[in-house]
Amino acid sequence: MEKIGVAVRLRPPSNADLTKANYWKVVDNTISLCSPLGTPVSGQAFTFDYVFGTEVGTRAIYDLHARGVISSALHGFNGTIFAYGQTSSGKTYTMRGSKTELGLIGLSVHDVFKHIQKMKVREYLIRVSYMEIYNEDINDLLAPQNRKLQVHENLEKGIFVAGLREEIVSSPSQVFELLEFGEAHRHVGQTNMNIYSSRSHTIFRMVIESKDKNELLTGACSSDAVRVSVLNLVDLAGSERVAKTGAGGVRLKEGTHINKSLMTLGNVIKKLSDGAARQGGHIPYRDSKLTRILQPALGGNAKTAIICTIAPDEIHIDETRGTLLFASRAK
Ligand code: ADP
Ligand code: MG
Repeated sequence: MEKIGVAVRLRPPSNADLTKANYWKVVDNTISLCSPLGTPVSGQAFTFDYVFGTEVGTRAIYDLHARGVISSALHGFNGTIFAYGQTSSGKTYTMRGSKTELGLIGLSVHDVFKHIQKMKVREYLIRVSYMEIYNEDINDLLAPQNRKLQVHENLEKGIFVAGLREEIVSSPSQVFELLEFGEAHRHVGQTNMNIYSSRSHTIFRMVIESKDKNELLTGACSSDAVRVSVLNLVDLAGSERVAKTGAGGVRLKEGTHINKSLMTLGNVIKKLSDGAARQGGHIPYRDSKLTRILQPALGGNAKTAIICTIAPDEIHIDETRGTLLFASRAK
């Protein structure tokens, strides 16, 4: 199994006037906690595949950290990209983007269609779906009446969400319309949107199916004639109630209102990065809807990239440390 790619993105301060002190210092791919005077606090340095400081845009993050997952998906390998972090740290900004900057979802969608246009020898079919998990209920964001969907497994389809709408798409703009529709139809009023989105996971999924045109013509049939892969782009619930460090500083401790899916996700990723799958060990995919849905695209031959978003503010230092410990467990 491939190593899981782990990156950290530090967002700009929410209020530059209040945040004059720089508590987190980024040097290459290491981030360290510093005193208000800028001296590194010992034992508080964390190293990852990438650490993106405030000056790094989403496009560069895509190129360095996400593109490989997308290009593998175009070549038949499942993949998953997660944004993990406390509320307001920049998960949605990173995945969905803003008015001024495309997110990883938009950049991926453009890349997928660009690739398809270039590939003359294969014929592609792209399907997208968009769902959220809220309180362990799976809701369909493309068909808002489809609520509390169930996860099933059978020989033909593998693991799947029964009744989830899949739309066939042929252009990026079509995908963006669907995403906007999905967001507009979440069952929540504007006033509660922040609380709600901080407690739900959204999974944007592209299923990429392709056939070798030549083989279709000649009637030849190789094992590579048809490829199907699943690409998940996941904006996770806010991690703030989960990331409590244990005595050793590396364990996620169970509290009263823990988001079960994030806990389980942490455990699954830790086992995968420890090589449990290779050693035939048990991976607790079934302990949450999130990990169950993502199971086919998490572990095995699938490619995974995690981007942990953090905020620079002093009041968030404990949560930020929790996020960095989560990220460290995934390495
Ligand atoms: P989350 O989804 O983690 O709760 P958001 O993505 O909604 O957080 O970010 C909170 C606010 O901060 C939003 O207004 C967003 O536009 C802004 N923001 C987050 N990250 C960045 C960034 N890297 N650059 C500029 N603005 C950002
Ligand atoms: Mg968000």
